Amino acid sequence: MNAKIAIIEDEPDIRRILRDFLVNNGCTVSEAADGLAASELLAKEQFDLVLMDLMLPNISGERLIADLRTRSDTPVIVISARSMLETRLEVLRLGADDYILKPFDLNEVLVRMEVVLRRTGRAELPETLTYGGLTIYPAENRACWEGSPLSLTAKEFQLLLLFMEHPQKVYSKANLYESVWGEEYCYEDNTVSVHVSNLRSKLKKASGSDLIETVWGIGYRMKGES
Ligand code: CA
Repeated sequence: MNAKIAIIEDEPDIRRILRDFLVNNGCTVSEAADGLAASELLAKEQFDLVLMDLMLPNISGERLIADLRTRSDTPVIVISARSMLETRLEVLRLGADDYILKPFDLNEVLVRMEVVLRRTGRAELPETLTYGGLTIYPAENRACWEGSPLSLTAKEFQLLLLFMEHPQKVYSKANLYESVWGEEYCYEDNTVSVHVSNLRSKLKKASGSDLIETVWGIGYRMKGES
């Protein structure tokens, strides 16, 4: 991912883990360890995306986001402890684009960043993605199995795009729901299962085998090519 990222985080270990991971993934990273330094950094430079802790010395993350929003629509992902943040609504009210709860999984951070960058028009979609006999054309919302077009709904297409971008990653239902529907996931909800199941049967019908697998107790991913 070729993006310029600001990490606003006062815990040195978390800052270092995020920085090393993002640099390894091709990002350019600037850091601030407290609210004042963050305020200066955000005033001085433009970023593609800001990772923002909320509990910070001097100036809180909430105030930094409010301040940033008076002059810029730079995407912000809040990274915070659950106790600070109950719902996605609160995050959106703050003016942030998404949130990640601590402790977090680094790959999850990367996926969330990609989704937010794409939603805000700051990341280019690849022209095509292929996996075995599957090819998708993200800009055209089109997918084929060995050259034959698949008839997918918009949601099925977006699910397939996520799976194909990171074929090794296991996506939880909450992950998929929040990425594709852009709303907070409720545990009683079976929307994701229904759409994944429809997508699976369409793929199976076209290819003759199951291309998505269930990882029990976790979620779904592309089935490894055997
Ligand atoms: Ca903190």
